[in-house]
Amino acid sequence: MRRMSVLIAVAVVVGAACTPLQTHVTVLASDAFAGRNNATQASIDSQNYIIGQLKNYGATGLNTGATGDDTFRQPFTDGTNVVGVIKGRELPNEYVIVGGHYDHLGSTCRGSVPADSICNGATDNAAGAAAAIEVGHALAQLPGGPRRSVVIALWDREEDGLLGSAFYVAHPLVPLNQTIAYVNFDIQGANLLPSLRTTSFAVGAETGGTRLTDAVKTAVGTTLQTHLVSSIFGQGRSDYVNFTSVQVPNVFFSDSTGPCYHTVKDELDVVDFGKLAKETDIATKVTEDLVTGTPPAFVGNAPLATFADAVELQSVVTQALGDIGRFTPAQQAQLAQFMSDLDAVVGRGEGQFGQADITTILGGAVNAVNLLTSGTCDGFLAP
Ligand SMILES: [Zn+2]
Repeated sequence: MRRMSVLIAVAVVVGAACTPLQTHVTVLASDAFAGRNNATQASIDSQNYIIGQLKNYGATGLNTGATGDDTFRQPFTDGTNVVGVIKGRELPNEYVIVGGHYDHLGSTCRGSVPADSICNGATDNAAGAAAAIEVGHALAQLPGGPRRSVVIALWDREEDGLLGSAFYVAHPLVPLNQTIAYVNFDIQGANLLPSLRTTSFAVGAETGGTRLTDAVKTAVGTTLQTHLVSSIFGQGRSDYVNFTSVQVPNVFFSDSTGPCYHTVKDELDVVDFGKLAKETDIATKVTEDLVTGTPPAFVGNAPLATFADAVELQSVVTQALGDIGRFTPAQQAQLAQFMSDLDAVVGRGEGQFGQADITTILGGAVNAVNLLTSGTCDGFLAP
């Protein structure tokens, strides 16, 4: 039954006039791509699809040790990153990297049963890969090209411990000291709850100081309720951390982990394509700002968490309480406790914010992420 419904959904989406984002996610998350596990034929098929898209809009490969399409491939142990560049028109030797992982779990994820064994990874991270591809596409279409160069990077083996991006920063294809920023996507077009359909997160922009946080805030505008939170709230769980470790300013766009996370149900029918389009639009604006304007300087000594984080989390939890009935009594108590803690921290004011508050909000956020990742997979798409 499940397989049939996916096939129908693929037919409907591909048959109708659909956007490039829809096409990329439909292809990459299809059963034919078998969950995009590294070192499989499905991985090679995914790479070929992505390379085709990058070539279509004029990106070129960066691996000078290879020829033809292989110039887009950066092989490493049991994995292959796909990396292309759009040369900048004025400052071709300065780079902004836009990326996310394209690999997923094959058939090793929660809920895998013989009747539905494929971990399609639609929101994680076919959607993020699609966003990265389309940010590159938009910048390739700027009149005369982008001012700085844009590198589009689709990482492999993220699911095995961020290995593709770790290999990249150890073996960069453009100099890291000429890489002015990294924009990461992981889990996009996803809803944590019905009440959070317009909620998203931009994690760690403070690594590029106010230059980068301002760029993100401006790009977000009123498009989505994209909450800027400090790098720590990404829990080190995506490729952005490898760029932090080599002091490249970065921002990580994510919808966080919800009940479909690493389940076989993370497939096409849970993707919120309206949200994904807005997220891609925001990231395109951020990237265009970065390729055009002043480079951000890396800030490595920002506090782990700030009063502003408490304010952002207070807003998210307040909204999530609209769905409190979806949780178990124990979870409801946890959520209510986090709410009252956040209200207290914010109520005392920024001048009183201290180490104990940091501990409170970090612990509360970990609990909240765990609680939101429990339950039955649902895309919570608008009716
Ligand atoms: Zn992911």
